[in-house]
Amino acid sequence: MARYIFITGGVVSSLGKGLASAALGALLQARGFSVRLRKLDPYLNVDPGTMSPFEHGEVFVTDDGAETDLDLGHYERFTGVAARATDSVSSGRIYSNVLEKERRGDYLGKTIQVIPHVTNEIKHFLDIGDNEVDFMLCEIGGTVGDIEGLPFFEAIRQFSQDRPRGQCIFMHLTLLPYLAASGELKTKPTQHSVKELRSIGIAPDVLVCRSEQPIPEKEREKIGLFCNVRKENVIPAYDLVSIYEAPLAYHRVGLDQAVLDAFGISPAPRPHLAVWEDVVDRIHNPEGEVRVAIVGKYTQLEDAYKSIREALTHGGMANRVKVRVDWVDAEVFDTEDPAARLEGFHAIVVPGGFGERGTEGKIKAAEFARTRKIPYLGICLGMQMAVIEAARNVAGLPTAGSEEFDHEAGQTRFEPVVYHLKEWVQGSRRIERRVDDDKGGTMRLGAYEAKLAEGSRVAAIYGTTRIEERHRHRYEVDTKYRDKLEACGLKFSGMSPDGRLPEIVEWDDHPWFIGVQFHPELKSKPFAPHPLFADFVRAAVETSRLV
Ligand code: GLN
Repeated sequence: MARYIFITGGVVSSLGKGLASAALGALLQARGFSVRLRKLDPYLNVDPGTMSPFEHGEVFVTDDGAETDLDLGHYERFTGVAARATDSVSSGRIYSNVLEKERRGDYLGKTIQVIPHVTNEIKHFLDIGDNEVDFMLCEIGGTVGDIEGLPFFEAIRQFSQDRPRGQCIFMHLTLLPYLAASGELKTKPTQHSVKELRSIGIAPDVLVCRSEQPIPEKEREKIGLFCNVRKENVIPAYDLVSIYEAPLAYHRVGLDQAVLDAFGISPAPRPHLAVWEDVVDRIHNPEGEVRVAIVGKYTQLEDAYKSIREALTHGGMANRVKVRVDWVDAEVFDTEDPAARLEGFHAIVVPGGFGERGTEGKIKAAEFARTRKIPYLGICLGMQMAVIEAARNVAGLPTAGSEEFDHEAGQTRFEPVVYHLKEWVQGSRRIERRVDDDKGGTMRLGAYEAKLAEGSRVAAIYGTTRIEERHRHRYEVDTKYRDKLEACGLKFSGMSPDGRLPEIVEWDDHPWFIGVQFHPELKSKPFAPHPLFADFVRAAVETSRLV
């Protein structure tokens, strides 16, 4: 039976609960324990799949095809444990399950209530896989006091009572604001936040206090006293230059020790932190810098491309260089010449996206990279744009486009080089879709295998010809155009095992131009950079030497 750590937040949102949870997971692993991390989100969407990236940042996709919160990306990047569909749940999913059971008659005529029916459903979710790991870390989204979070807080309170004593602890993150006028750190908001938590029956065992200023010993004592937490369990959390410093930084201030003490695990196994020391060393001591442009649509919110940004950092670490990223809004190329904006970059990424807005700009960016021989990585929509560019400008199909944009506009303007995928196979399962299906959870989602062509650049990069990568898309490059495009030099170097779905394209006569239908960024880790990103940054380093 796993020990449970519940992570909650108070005072303000965006305190870095996800990062603290991920770092704690990594520290427990460093002490030899196995972990799994989970996120419980109070919003009413069934999952974040239908939310705009502007609303919620990136949607993180798991191997088993769930569209989840981006915090699951942090969890994977810090622990290397592949998240599952059962590691992410929202109020929407919980209520939807409860209502489905109610309609089926499973509750045998009972009146359905938040307590116990909703809370039981949450507890059932928490139980899943509890015999597989030493520690289950469960983060509750939002802040204590939010109306929609209440059933989750009640459920974790009940859960800790249901389990044997000492099997569950509560860790609460708060903020100590600094008043410059009086030169003081204020503890009152933390006291109020803990009071709120205690009023719903939860007494925190560990308090993590974010602060921009050093927290004096006497303030730590005061927080401990007023919040009824042992002084050594009041953990300061200061701002970091890089998120990858978090495991070592939290270890230095005693977070993992405090957690193990709270469980009464003594003596605590010694931590092995060499991996994280190497990660931090690579970040702090780069031997050069490359400039990469990300030409996208959601560029005002960096979280929309969180995993790509991180995977580029990992690629930089593999090559011991710093990767400087500039965000370029693809729509500027509707009026501006790409050369004026993209000149000087050592590599270009066109990321995934949905809808027509900005796509002509992305096509121009792909053309610029192809003709100027700048390394190009096209991800999902970025691959589709590279194929359309090739079709229009090299293969003599001037009206080439994607059915996605015609569907959106309700008219037929393009030759559908990229078409709506209506059936495919996943393992031994056949999946069928219609254009008017629901939007939620109906894309080609999760891990699929691909076969790489012998002798291709991608086979050399991966060091194998069988790979498995995560997908999230509805549209697909049409193999009808394969011969024509390959004759021009755009090779279909990765295909689904049945040979029907193009997974990777690459230009023959180019230093580094690769488009992938999947999302390699989701599997990259600081201690195991994804081979495509590592090699892409290597190519950028080479370009930087030429200019
Ligand atoms: N909109 C495209 C599709 O659905 C690409 C999706 C993506 O980039 N993730 O196929």
